[in-house]
Amino acid sequence: MELASPSGMLIDAQTKLNLLDCLRNSLEDACRRLADKFGLYDEAGRPRIAYITDVLTRYTCPSCAFQALTQTPEPVEVDAIFREIHNLAVMLLAQALRSLRQRHLNIQDEVEGEYGRLDLLVYRLRGSLLLVQSACSEVIVEVKTNLGFSLKQVLRYLIEKPNATAIIWRVRKRQILAIDGEKHRWLIIAFTASALQQALTILNGEFTPCKHKKPKNRPAELQNPQDMLDDFLTGLIEDLPKVVSAVMQIIEAKKKTSITCEGAVSTPQSESKQR
Ligand SMILES: [Zn+2]
Repeated sequence: MELASPSGMLIDAQTKLNLLDCLRNSLEDACRRLADKFGLYDEAGRPRIAYITDVLTRYTCPSCAFQALTQTPEPVEVDAIFREIHNLAVMLLAQALRSLRQRHLNIQDEVEGEYGRLDLLVYRLRGSLLLVQSACSEVIVEVKTNLGFSLKQVLRYLIEKPNATAIIWRVRKRQILAIDGEKHRWLIIAFTASALQQALTILNGEFTPCKHKKPKNRPAELQNPQDMLDDFLTGLIEDLPKVVSAVMQIIEAKKKTSITCEGAVSTPQSESKQR
């Protein structure tokens, strides 16, 4: 299939995927250099690519991003209620999907990705005897317990899994939103390129100090825990079947297009990153 680029030039789907692969490799290389420069490694000694990409994309201003990279991030105290209801929602959704008993469906929770931890990753397996992961059938579910959500966080996940569809379940808002990585490929390419641009600006020192005031990392305040809990639990049980249905609809739709898609994405690079 040929699609027009923003400049009007015809570019096929494989070329776009190769372009994204190339940008992602360059971004990860730049993140490793930033990790080296600022000593940003996790306990296992791996560069903190998810954290660095978060900082690179959180600030438009390179000076603000530079300062954030030089400071040790303060741990944000999160009210235990958010963690509890989040775990409950992820558990109920994972088990509801598993209860469908679809042999060709794999459901994983708390998946450590290169660009952050996915709440839920659902994908279709293909084959009859030896089941292997179907390259184009992934659905990421991100459960949001409070009223806010980060669009950039979801786009980061799509840098690593560009063929996935991300579902954002805003439980209290009663919203189920989806971002299809294939449909919005140019956006993911632009987002990856912008993170890379920010990384290179910082590595090359091509910025001047700014006077932006830094917002404090305040924990989410709970004004009325009872109302919040009622809201959440009601939304959770009423919308759970809708989220299950949304996940299954996407998986089914992807199944139909996966024949052309799988030929296009089974590069050693993308296979090696599946986990
Ligand atoms: Zn700034």
